[in-house]
Amino acid sequence: MASQSPTTGAPGATALPDYAPVPQSAIGPALNEQGYYVGRVERNLYWVTDGSYQSAFLTTKDGVVLFDAPPTIGGNIRRAVDEIASANGVSNKVTHLVYSHHHADHAGASSLFDKNVIRIGHEETKRLLLRDNDPARPVPEETFSDRRTLKIGGERIELAWRGPNHSPDNIYIHFPDHDTLMLIDIVNPGWAPISMSNLSEDIPGYIAAPAIALDYPWKHFIGGHVGRLGTRDDLTLHQQYMADIDASVRKALVSVDPTPFFQKYYDNPWAAVSALFDAWTEAGAAPVIEKYKGVLAAADVYTSSTVFWVMESIRLDLGFASYVHP
Ligand SMILES: [Zn+2]
Repeated sequence: MASQSPTTGAPGATALPDYAPVPQSAIGPALNEQGYYVGRVERNLYWVTDGSYQSAFLTTKDGVVLFDAPPTIGGNIRRAVDEIASANGVSNKVTHLVYSHHHADHAGASSLFDKNVIRIGHEETKRLLLRDNDPARPVPEETFSDRRTLKIGGERIELAWRGPNHSPDNIYIHFPDHDTLMLIDIVNPGWAPISMSNLSEDIPGYIAAPAIALDYPWKHFIGGHVGRLGTRDDLTLHQQYMADIDASVRKALVSVDPTPFFQKYYDNPWAAVSALFDAWTEAGAAPVIEKYKGVLAAADVYTSSTVFWVMESIRLDLGFASYVHP
C-alpha cells in the first residue's frame, strides 16, 4: 500500500525524503507581496528574481533593455521595471529584449512585450525558435554569430557566443561598464546544478564555461537561477565541485567491476547496463555528496543526477575506460 499523509490522508506525502537544510549562504533577499524581488546590480543595471529564476534590465535614456523573460516571473517583470523607472524618473518603455538562449523557461514571457520591442539573440537561437514555433517566444529579428557589441541609450553590452554548453546557443552577456557578467544555466550560485548538470546538452562545453566566464572582468554574476546573485568565488566553488565529480567518476569507472552485472543478467544486457550505470553513479557521487553537503545547497538532492551525466560524457565524449574487444 502506498504511504499516506497522517494529517490529510493524501497519498505519497510521507514517502518524500528529507534533505540536508539549505545553508544560509544560498538564500537571497525576501520577495515582496507580488512574489518578486528587484534590486540594483550596479548603477542602472537591475535584476529581478522570484526565488528560482532571474531576469535583468538596464534603464537607459532611450528606454529599457531587458535580458531574458522567464515565464515564472512573467507579469512581475513589467511591475519591476515600472517600480524602478518610476522611482528613478526614467522611461519604463521596454525597447529591446536580449535572449540568453532559446529555452522556454527563460524566454517564455517574451510575448508579454509588444511587437515593437527589438529582440536580439544568437543566430542559433533564431534557428531553434523558428523550429520550436512557440508564440510565447517570438524569434529575434537581430542576430549575431560570434560577437556583437550593443550600444543602446548610451550603454554598452558585449554579447559573445563561445561554443555550445548548456544549450547550443547559450551566450555570454558582459556589461563592461557595470562590472557584471550574465551567463544562464551554468552556475547556480550557492546551489548544486539541477538534473544532469543543469540539463546540459554539451558536458565538455558546460564544464569549460566557468573558466571562460572568469576570463572576463566582473564583480557581479547573474546566473539565471536561484534567489541571489553570484560572485567570482561562487564560480570557483562550482568549478571545484565539477572537478571533484570528474575525478570521482573516473575512479568509479575503473574500480567497479562490470563482470557480476553481466553474469547475473546474462540474457538481458539492458538490465546489466542499467545496474552498472547505477553502481558507477552511486560510487562516483558518494564522496562528492559527503564533501559538499552543507556547502552547496541541494548537493544531496542533485549530485547523483549530475554524476550520471558527467559519467556518460567521460565515457562517450572522452572515451575514458573504453573497452576494445581483443
Ligand atoms: Zn536553459
